[in-house]
Amino acid sequence: MQWEVVIGLEIHVQLSTNSKIFSGASTAFGASPNSQACAIDIGLPGVLPVVNKEVFKKAVAFGLGVGAEIALKSVFDRKNYFYPDLPKGYQITQLDYPIVIGGEVEITLSDATKKTIHITRAHLEEDAGKSLHEDFHGMTGIDLNRAGTPLLEIVSEPDMRSAEEAVAYARYIRQLVCYLDVSDGDMSQGSLRCDANVSIRPMGETTMGTRTETKNVNSFKFLERAINHEIERQIGVLESGGTVHQETMLYDPVRDETRPMRSKETATDYRYFPEPDLLPVEIDAAYVADIRNNLPELPKQRALRFITEMHLSETDAMILTSSRSVAEYFERVSEICDDPRLANNWVRVELMGQLNKEGLEIKQSPVVPQQLGDLLIRIKDDTISGKIAKTVFDAIWQGGGTADQIIEARGLKQVTDASSIEPVIDEIFANNPQQLQQLKAGKEKVLGFFVGQVMKATQGKANPKQVNDLIRQKIK
Ligand code: ADP
Ligand code: MG
Repeated sequence: MQWEVVIGLEIHVQLSTNSKIFSGASTAFGASPNSQACAIDIGLPGVLPVVNKEVFKKAVAFGLGVGAEIALKSVFDRKNYFYPDLPKGYQITQLDYPIVIGGEVEITLSDATKKTIHITRAHLEEDAGKSLHEDFHGMTGIDLNRAGTPLLEIVSEPDMRSAEEAVAYARYIRQLVCYLDVSDGDMSQGSLRCDANVSIRPMGETTMGTRTETKNVNSFKFLERAINHEIERQIGVLESGGTVHQETMLYDPVRDETRPMRSKETATDYRYFPEPDLLPVEIDAAYVADIRNNLPELPKQRALRFITEMHLSETDAMILTSSRSVAEYFERVSEICDDPRLANNWVRVELMGQLNKEGLEIKQSPVVPQQLGDLLIRIKDDTISGKIAKTVFDAIWQGGGTADQIIEARGLKQVTDASSIEPVIDEIFANNPQQLQQLKAGKEKVLGFFVGQVMKATQGKANPKQVNDLIRQKIK
């Protein structure tokens, strides 16, 4: 039996505001437990929520970024359920009138094919607290710092057909929210979490199979694994004559498995009703237009500009726009050395290679754009060769100073003065009479040997092209 996989994602993005969605408490990560939860966040009787304006700006920016309709009137609702990390006994969210309606994104797969994924909606809601298990033997600790943190829940249509597509979509959403400054997208701190809805159906079938939902996956690697596990599990169940039950699963990265958490609740279980302590939020077209006019350049537009104006390949442009900070770094270097292609090579290969090797983000790079740009200028004006430049780059990385300082201190300047190269050539000719004879007889391959010898003797400081010319002149 051939199975078709159907996946829809719900992505929770933590909005990068300073304070919470309905209170003035700080949202900073890493504070000691319960030090950032005020009376509103812990749901003391008699308190009233006040909406943080900033969350609407960010939600609208996201909606515009995916070409969605922005609802000029949106309404908060109470979603009631009982859980220790939810002090009020309900979560404030948006059910029937979300702020963002529809929208779509285009993802690129590893074989370069493109696919459109539709977005159903995105709504604002508050986060819950966190249960802590490690430090409490036989008990559970509750940290309410996260309670009331603003979230945008982005719900996709069930458009994805493989784990690869789901990961590409989630990566795109992360890239977009980072570009738009909607979120810091830091998955290790829980700023972006995915719930994966997965079902399978016989190939060719048009009605959808029963889905399960795997909650709170916080890395792309785990997302891929969790989905593939769930696909395998469902195929196993169906092929052995069983039925898939609609349930909520938890992915355990340590044991690399998904297991059932609870059977799926339906909307009626949550007894939704409009939040009586908050008015519907109305915005107008001018407000939306203002945000639209101030949107930064999006990754797609930026990549296109790199291709058309800087003549980079599509692959290079995609890599350089993978994050806003990489794109900004590259543009700065390119501006300084006035050579986008050279900047592209160095940022993509040398810099990103080195960063990957040391597990650093570009923001943590010990080589700043000015330093790299200055180094590339010295390649362009023939002060050093590309090969020597790598040595200089390593020295800058180690904190050895600017390119010029390092070139000067280590005597790395390219030797272009013919009168100092010629004696070197003569000596090498003298030491290799046999090869010299072959060269004179027109054996081109031997030329490479001599150039190599001269480069070695000058510790790479000669200009290979010039050495080539000088040797040719000498044997004429
Ligand atoms: P709920 O409100 O119970 O979370 P929704 O209908 O809002 O359910 O869907 C939640 C997510 O599940 C959406 O991303 C949607 O695309 C996805 N989804 C719905 N049905 C299926 C299915 N049969 N297989 C896979 N994903 C599905
Ligand atoms: Mg849902």
